Amino acid sequence: MTADFDFQCTICAKCCHDLRLPLTVSEALAWLERGNDVQILCDASPWLEEPPADNLQAAYRRRRTFATTSGTLPTRIAVILTATFAGPCPNLQPDNRCGIYDQRPLTCRIYPAEVNPFIELTPEHKACPPEAWTPGLPPLLRAGKLVDESVHATIQQSRALAESEVQAKQQLCGLLGIDHAAIWNEGFVAYSPACADLLTALRQLSNGIPTPPPSPAWHFVSNRRTTVEALSTVGASSSAAQANDTTHFEYLGFFPASE
Ligand code: SF4
Ligand code: SF4
Repeated sequence: MTADFDFQCTICAKCCHDLRLPLTVSEALAWLERGNDVQILCDASPWLEEPPADNLQAAYRRRRTFATTSGTLPTRIAVILTATFAGPCPNLQPDNRCGIYDQRPLTCRIYPAEVNPFIELTPEHKACPPEAWTPGLPPLLRAGKLVDESVHATIQQSRALAESEVQAKQQLCGLLGIDHAAIWNEGFVAYSPACADLLTALRQLSNGIPTPPPSPAWHFVSNRRTTVEALSTVGASSSAAQANDTTHFEYLGFFPASE
């Protein structure tokens, strides 16, 4: 049963620190134009056959990914643009207010609600302090539904953009030579292209300038030997994440490395 929650932001700014903040394509462009860093995170799912129509989670994943191959394995790739910063967000003001409040990313407008419909909103997984969740504050969630219609609409907007921007992100990867991904739910491969290169590529996409065909072949990366071997046995191109090797990309594993 889904709990009801009351909530009021305390302006503690904990949610504005140490982030990889998902951005839309236009938000990434604006973030870079303000002189801040953007990374590109990639994960991949083997996709041997189409899942049944009642598998809503697979359908959600499918809409947010593009089809390609890894070796001989049909695969779908998810690409996430993120504003990446350690410590405070570059837009955070000394009084904990957002310096780009009217232009802040959709992700910031939605927090602490969830974009992913398959992740339940739970206070313990949020940065907000306990007093932000005090019963009697304005209602946030009732019977699993967000009370604030504008937040609900923003979530819908975020989901729609994540789907409509899939092709642009595939083209972006082609322009930047990005073709490695972690396996879904095991981690991400994080690329940190030079800001000027990423800006040029995003402007090319935004202006509708034709791009070369995207990479037809992707490679899986994992820090777990069993994963690398399992992927190889089904025909995928897979390799071990090299510790400390961040020449081309960084491997962000959710699990400890295993031999
Ligand atoms: S853009 Fe604004 S709301 Fe979003 S993390 Fe930065 S300071 Fe916080
Ligand atoms: S962590 Fe929660 S309470 Fe603190 S500023 Fe962010 S949304 Fe508000």
